[in-house]
Amino acid sequence: MKIKDLHINFNFKMLFVFAMFFWQATYSQDSIATYQEVEDYFALARTYKNQDKLDLSLESVYKALKKAEKLEDLKTIIDCYHELSLLYLKLNKIDQSIQLWQRADVLLKDSEYPYGSATHRYIDALHLMKEQKYYLANHELDKADKMTNVRNLTLHILLAKGFIYLELPKYTEAEKNFNSLIVNNDTNEKDYIASRAFLGLALLKSKTNEPEKGIEYALQGLDIAKKNNFFNEILELNSYLAATNEQLFKFEQALAFNKNLVQIKDSIYNETKVKTEAKKADNIYFETQKNTITNLTKENEQLKASSSRTEITAILTSAFLTIISLLAVSLYRNNQIKVKTNDLLQTKNNELEASRDAAVKAMEAKTNFLSTVSHELRTPLYAVTGLTHLLLEENPSESQQEHLKALKFSGDYLLSFINDILQLNKIDADKLEPVNTEFSLKKVLSEVISSLQQSAKENETKISLDYDENIPKSLLSDSMKISQILINLVGNGLKFTKKGDVTVITRLLRKSDDDVTIYFEVRDTGIGISDDQITNIFESFEQGSIQINREYGGTGLGLTIVKSLLGLFNSKIDLKSELGKGSSFFFELDMKSKSYTTEEEATAVIAPQDFDFKGLHILIVEDNKINQVITKKMLIKKEMTCEIASNGTDAVEMVSQTKYDAILMDIHMPGISGEEATILIRKFNKHTPIIALTAISLDDSLESFYAAGCNDVVTKPFKPEVFYQKIGEHVFNPKPLS
Ligand code: ADP
Repeated sequence: MKIKDLHINFNFKMLFVFAMFFWQATYSQDSIATYQEVEDYFALARTYKNQDKLDLSLESVYKALKKAEKLEDLKTIIDCYHELSLLYLKLNKIDQSIQLWQRADVLLKDSEYPYGSATHRYIDALHLMKEQKYYLANHELDKADKMTNVRNLTLHILLAKGFIYLELPKYTEAEKNFNSLIVNNDTNEKDYIASRAFLGLALLKSKTNEPEKGIEYALQGLDIAKKNNFFNEILELNSYLAATNEQLFKFEQALAFNKNLVQIKDSIYNETKVKTEAKKADNIYFETQKNTITNLTKENEQLKASSSRTEITAILTSAFLTIISLLAVSLYRNNQIKVKTNDLLQTKNNELEASRDAAVKAMEAKTNFLSTVSHELRTPLYAVTGLTHLLLEENPSESQQEHLKALKFSGDYLLSFINDILQLNKIDADKLEPVNTEFSLKKVLSEVISSLQQSAKENETKISLDYDENIPKSLLSDSMKISQILINLVGNGLKFTKKGDVTVITRLLRKSDDDVTIYFEVRDTGIGISDDQITNIFESFEQGSIQINREYGGTGLGLTIVKSLLGLFNSKIDLKSELGKGSSFFFELDMKSKSYTTEEEATAVIAPQDFDFKGLHILIVEDNKINQVITKKMLIKKEMTCEIASNGTDAVEMVSQTKYDAILMDIHMPGISGEEATILIRKFNKHTPIIALTAISLDDSLESFYAAGCNDVVTKPFKPEVFYQKIGEHVFNPKPLS
């Protein structure tokens, strides 16, 4: 048996695997010694067995079993059980032998051990032989033979088969088997097998009526048995020789062998031997049974533990699987919901995009429509207001004067309405952005006030400026828009205040480095606004009441424009008002301060100037015939002379030929625009004031007019006072172009 060919049954002894590795690695020297010990016990047991010292043999195998169990070496344990089974069989204790064989059977089921399985079948065959079931036994031996090529076992199988053939009877096969065994080369049991083979041959020869030959074989066998102390064989061969000699009437020889027999059987040795053997056999059987029970209990516990582990694993696995499936289901459902929601969102998104596009288109259409309509309305309106103004100046009759005043009022109303709409339209279409230019706030405020002095006079109201001198002289912001905001607010103040005061207040709230915050307030002592009205006052077309509208006029757009313009500066307007006492509108603006460069300090309040226009020679650049007539008449009215250019190219030509005191430049003309004409003129003429007269449309930029070289811009249709004021300013108080 190959003890070194040891394997650990991983399946069966899982728990001990780690321990074994550790143990083998640490104590490899000890482990080799231990395996050697086991092998020694086996060799000893074999010798004792063949000498029929079965108690000692049992003891050795039992010791080997103990070692094997310590080593957790399943194959060696199986070998031990097989050896024990064989020993009990020899002791004729068949039941014990079978039980030990069955124990090995259990262990074999958990291992892959061909030699063990072959031995197992071999022992089974021996049991069957005891029951005289020779065919079955032979069959088992055939199977065992196929399973192994371990020489010792193959020889024992041959031997057993030989004895079976004796019984079947198949003498030829029997003889063949025994003959092949009498000379064998087994390492450990050469002599034992040979003596058994001689015994077999001897028996065979008796059966084939060749007793002399039988005696020959028996004597050869006895010789070997005696040399090796094969007690059982000595007995068997002696009894064979006694009987066979008797058959051959060789009574002397028969007597001699019989004497030998009696001597052996009656010897003390034999008596004690039988007793000790029986006792030892019982003890060892008891021990192995106990051992088996302990092992079975251990295995049972392990199985229990592993089954409970398996149960826990099963529970955990099923819980895990349940969770996973739930997760999968919920993920799937979530996904479904997501897909549905996505589809829904996509549809909604498409709808929203479509409606947004439609809204943008509608907005663009509205903006363009308003722009076109208001622009188209302004040209004829220019004729209406201009001609009304001229007619009023031409000493109309009393009744005519009344009608003309009504006409002028309507024209002015329509004019401001259209201007307001256009302004709001421009803000809504995001066409307006604050443009930073350097300016003096004090000057801007003075100009606002001065432009409104006429209305103040009409209402017998005084406008005053409460200006904080700490405000930096030069600021950076959009002065045009600031003017517009204040014109609207001061205009409202004047409109709703009769014989009272309108004050424009400014305060420097904060200044750090270049950043300044300025507080603006327009306060009046007018009719005031009720709490109800205050809430909606900044909405489009919102007016205090029908009565107010009837009495004071207006479009309801002024404050909306103020709010929108302040929105461009990220600022908000607020108000305080008390009915009958007055109102106050206030807001804050952030600006940048500049080191002061402005040429002159503005006077606090500028009164409208009366200029003497007589003899001024003006060039009117205008493509519309009616407008040409009106503008011409307005100039003639103030005793000015003029020439007319119907397009930009003519205008450039004329300016290069003639000296004019001022040029009134229309912007939108066929051919080159007023802006382009201005640029061309400025190439050779830097001093003649050019005032752009334009019905500003959506895409026009005041900045670009100034950049082209215009000195000022008057939006058409203009109020005649504003028109004259601008001409006077630029002709009599010229300023260098920026
Ligand atoms: P409108 O051009 O009609 O004046 P606004 O938007 O400028 O339109 O003003 C809306 C309304 O707010 C006015 O009709 C008026 O009732 C009220 N309002 C505005 N400013 C004043 C003020 N300074 N004093 C009294 N009421 C005012």
